[in-house]
Amino acid sequence: MTTRARELIALDKRHLWHPYTPMQRYIEQESPLVVVRAEGSRLYDAEGRSYVDGNASWWTALLGHRHPRLVQALIDQVGRMEHVALAGITHEPAVRLAQLLARVAPAGLSRVFLSDNGSTAVEVALKLALQFWSQNGRPERTRFVALEGAFHGETLGATALGGVEVFRRPFASVVLDCVHVPRNAAAHEHAFASLSQIVEREADTLAAVVLEPVVQGAAGMRLYDPSLLARAREVTTRHDVLLVLDEVFTGYGRTGPFWASEHAGVTPDLCCTAKGFSGGMLPMAATLVSERIFQGFLGAPERAFYYGHTFCGNPLGAAVACEVLRVYHDEDILARARDKAVRLARGFEGLRELRGVEHVRTLGMIGALDLAGPAGYLSRAGALVCEAARRRGAYLRPLGNVVYVTPPLNIPDTDLDELLHILAESIREVL
Ligand SMILES: *Cc1c(COP(=O)(O)O)cnc(C)c1O
Repeated sequence: MTTRARELIALDKRHLWHPYTPMQRYIEQESPLVVVRAEGSRLYDAEGRSYVDGNASWWTALLGHRHPRLVQALIDQVGRMEHVALAGITHEPAVRLAQLLARVAPAGLSRVFLSDNGSTAVEVALKLALQFWSQNGRPERTRFVALEGAFHGETLGATALGGVEVFRRPFASVVLDCVHVPRNAAAHEHAFASLSQIVEREADTLAAVVLEPVVQGAAGMRLYDPSLLARAREVTTRHDVLLVLDEVFTGYGRTGPFWASEHAGVTPDLCCTAKGFSGGMLPMAATLVSERIFQGFLGAPERAFYYGHTFCGNPLGAAVACEVLRVYHDEDILARARDKAVRLARGFEGLRELRGVEHVRTLGMIGALDLAGPAGYLSRAGALVCEAARRRGAYLRPLGNVVYVTPPLNIPDTDLDELLHILAESIREVL
């Protein structure tokens, strides 16, 4: 390790509070990777060692790091205007972004509310749902339904929906009313049957059902059958409960099609996007809503949505987010990712044979497996595999006993093969 890296780690341990990190263990035992540069699907440390970015930096860098066209869009935009308010002002990056988004959005979602991150995209959806009902004749519709194990972000509103027990526990007594539909790892069938019953029984008090379509990411990459999502759409439509789909992780082609809701052929009433939305370059998010919801806020001024974030529609983020959509088109990202997804699936098939590996699963550019032994977010088994992977040149983060890869959609085949090889070797070493 270089002197500079050692110095940074010492300072880090003195002042920096890391996300999702037990800080005592971190300070006493852990040594973070000091990254000095990122390029394509790789991260580089001070010694020039490179690491395949196995989770696209928390699921964001879908086009890899520093895609030249995104870098150029950012440079061009910063040369003109870095930030202005979006109240009483409009500008081309925000307008174009809304136009491009409406074009790719699930059918009928033609209105775009911009914010800063996935949690705020969800928060906007929750507030829109509550206010929509409160001023359109159903003020008693104030509760939400989400799945056990759900993850929808970190604001208190999003925390209310969250069903990862350790994330939720400290706040459980103060959050919004949300019914969590029980779900054991293998049985989404059962969960969606319960969800239908809850909607049928309690529709009068429900504002919305909120779901991660087809895969529950933070729950441990739990896949479920698209027909279940279609069933949830059917029952919510029948009882006029809003359906919010949180595509923060699954959108922009992570699971194959542009939106994961396409697997089920469903359109939500509201759709949240972030992460890959700005190619992972800047904090940026959007909540897409139907014309019906939008209309519910017209009329007298007190019916307006009095909500906004200082950096709503930030021109830098918006310019980059526009360029992301153009790159998807020009570089045929989804079609090319389909071949890579086959490669990834083949690699994961090979892991089935390894001792201590269970429930191997893949969907699009997601590959995941469970390590035998204690489950749950606090299980340490995954961390050992990820440490071994780091020594071999790949950056991975576990979700408890779940080890997964979510590489950039345009990862070169050689890097993908290397990532899969490192994963297999690391599991062999640890188990
Ligand atoms: C990451 C994530 C969020 C939260 O997004 P942030 O940008 O971290 O606030 C919400 N929902 C899902 C499904 C996510 O994966």
